[in-house]
Amino acid sequence: MCDFDVIIVGGGHAGTEAAAASARFGARTALVTYRADKIGEMSCNPAIGGLGKGHLVREIDALDGIMARVADQAGIQYRLLNRSKGPAVQGPRSQADRKLYRNAMQREIAETDNLTVIEDGVDDLLIGDGEVEGVVTASGREIRAKSVVITTGTFLRGLIHLGEQRTPAGRVGEAPSNELSKKLLALDLPLGRLKTGTPARLNGKTIDWESLERQLADDEPVPFSFMTEQITIPQVACGITWTNERTHDIIQENILKSAVYSGAIDGIGPRYCPSIEDKVHKFADRNRHQVFLEPEGLDDDTVYPNGISSSLPADVQDAFIRTIPGLEKVEILQPGYAIEYDYVDPRSLARTLEVKNLPGLYLAGQINGTTGYEEAAAQGLIAGTNAAMRAGGSEDTFVLDRAEAYIGVMLDDLTSRGVSEPYRMFTSRAEYRLHLRADNADQRLTPKGEGVGLVKSDRSRHFREKTDRLDRIREFLTSHNLTPNEAAALGIEIKLDGRRRSAFDLLTYPNVELETLSSKWSELASFDQKDLKQVEIEARYSSYLERQASDIAMLRKDEKRAIPADIDYRQVGSLSNEIREKLIMSRPETIAQAQRIEGMTPSAILAVLAHMRKREMSEDLRQAGTVE
Ligand code: FAD
Repeated sequence: MCDFDVIIVGGGHAGTEAAAASARFGARTALVTYRADKIGEMSCNPAIGGLGKGHLVREIDALDGIMARVADQAGIQYRLLNRSKGPAVQGPRSQADRKLYRNAMQREIAETDNLTVIEDGVDDLLIGDGEVEGVVTASGREIRAKSVVITTGTFLRGLIHLGEQRTPAGRVGEAPSNELSKKLLALDLPLGRLKTGTPARLNGKTIDWESLERQLADDEPVPFSFMTEQITIPQVACGITWTNERTHDIIQENILKSAVYSGAIDGIGPRYCPSIEDKVHKFADRNRHQVFLEPEGLDDDTVYPNGISSSLPADVQDAFIRTIPGLEKVEILQPGYAIEYDYVDPRSLARTLEVKNLPGLYLAGQINGTTGYEEAAAQGLIAGTNAAMRAGGSEDTFVLDRAEAYIGVMLDDLTSRGVSEPYRMFTSRAEYRLHLRADNADQRLTPKGEGVGLVKSDRSRHFREKTDRLDRIREFLTSHNLTPNEAAALGIEIKLDGRRRSAFDLLTYPNVELETLSSKWSELASFDQKDLKQVEIEARYSSYLERQASDIAMLRKDEKRAIPADIDYRQVGSLSNEIREKLIMSRPETIAQAQRIEGMTPSAILAVLAHMRKREMSEDLRQAGTVE
């Protein structure tokens, strides 16, 4: 008899989303985490969203996940990034009040039906008949469940580096998880080492704000959640300052004292989020680097200096930070540090995030080699949903592909290519960017979430109402049209071919603005302007979207060609040893996934397809009784 259907290990960003998804699905869910008061803790940057990451948050929300709604209760500086660029690459971002975020997340978890929080550590897994059966906690309790999701972040054999000091920890002030790491190793899971870092925290009262450039929030904050009507939290400004040659000299003089440069750290760090030591060393021609001074909360004087993460000794951090304008007299509340931790090679996972060799065990978040709250939460949602589906005895899985969602892009990248450094989401990773926009995440995903029972009724209602409104706008724009002469009267220059063009078609012309059309059709003013904007985007990109649709159809065809899980690549002829090894390691689930493995060649794909055909033929013959 199981105590629960699903156990989630860890109450960070992946764990909370996994627990909420599993419980929403209807599974009796336990969230086992070291400290309940740390649920929803932001270990590093107090911010949610950004380019690519903001898309993930919207997609989580579209599937009725919790991150966006929680972030909307904590956002203190909303900015829509890339506002001047196309809508496909615009990313919602907000700084978060760390305490408000944590409190809102804890409230959300406490109010979730089917969810029990257990304050304990997980040291071991219960395994029987080659399947996971539960966990053993640090206090010796055995908890049984049909599926287990591990979301332990940076805690597996976590080791903090500060200059030459090394402290075993999951993050500052919290013990690491060593026993569970040993267990994963004993299960033959491929473990590696990665690292990440965080900057010092500063006392905002000791910063000379008056001397600094300020960055303000957007006048009209754009919420993360499709369900949030308005942001009511006061918005704050950030300070902007720069490092200088004196800063760089101090860093260079002491660089060998940095844990990264002294050789004390083996793990590879995030290339896109380098430490200040890395920036100074690798970009020696640059004489300054930008630093954003981000308040950590409305009633908290702590300031997060974004851009100067460091593992130099505390006294060196103190010295270089005080060379930065505005920070000459700053008090450092906590020095920055680097942390090294174990991760599991995500190629050992299916796209459901289930461990291929151990049914019932799922991994999500930083443990899979990613970095960032949003990446973690998105994985949590997928793992939690699939874990709950499995526990409920379903043969189905919940998987998103590269053409449906950034979540699909990330899971496909992780499980087919693995990681060589902490993986972070960028818009450039997605092939179908015009389709995968942040503004249409609900249109892309909410129906899919409804299909598996992940979306609750209030969101479904909200979604239907919005879809009806969008349909009415589309109907209006496609049924109202102009001749070229009528268009010319409005200042719209189009070919004088006598052909009437609908308002929707006219919007595909770069020089045609909605305002111009509104001067002709005053009814446009009566539509919700946010909805109207969304249909305008669809119209503007319609020809590109049509072209993309045929690429997507090709991808789907290859996605449908499933590679049998028990294929023996040693039996596939004409493969180079290198490609054979990669296929054995990644075990792609589909031909499309195999194509995306680094170094894969068209002839290797043909060889795999030929082998699959041969297998199918001999299977057909066997079934027909021709072969023994
Ligand atoms: P976490 O949020 O770390 O949550 C893990 C949870 O699991 C914790 O609640 C912990 O208590 C619990 N836990 C661990 N082991 C056990 C166990 N055995 N039993 C029970 N509970 C357990 N991200 C960026 O995007 N950019 C950055 O620059 C960046 N810098 C970082 C710097 C530092 C020092 C740290 C620590 C993290 C940094 N991050 C950064 C990463 C960001 O914090 C993580 O990506 C994100 O929190 C990962 O979410 P997660 O849910 O996987 O893990």
